[in-house]
Amino acid sequence: MKLRMNVKELRCETCGVPVTEDTAYTRSINGETHYFCCSHCADRYEGK
Ligand SMILES: [Zn+2]
Repeated sequence: MKLRMNVKELRCETCGVPVTEDTAYTRSINGETHYFCCSHCADRYEGK
């Protein structure tokens, strides 16, 4: 098992898939940065 001490563990806020800051799709919504696995989940989060 690889140690990833410097990588913040994040989850897609729509579907819960684990993502990292390196691989996450980020979108600024209402001035806050939100993390998703893909643009589709970001769109769904925004209710589009
Ligand atoms: Zn997702």
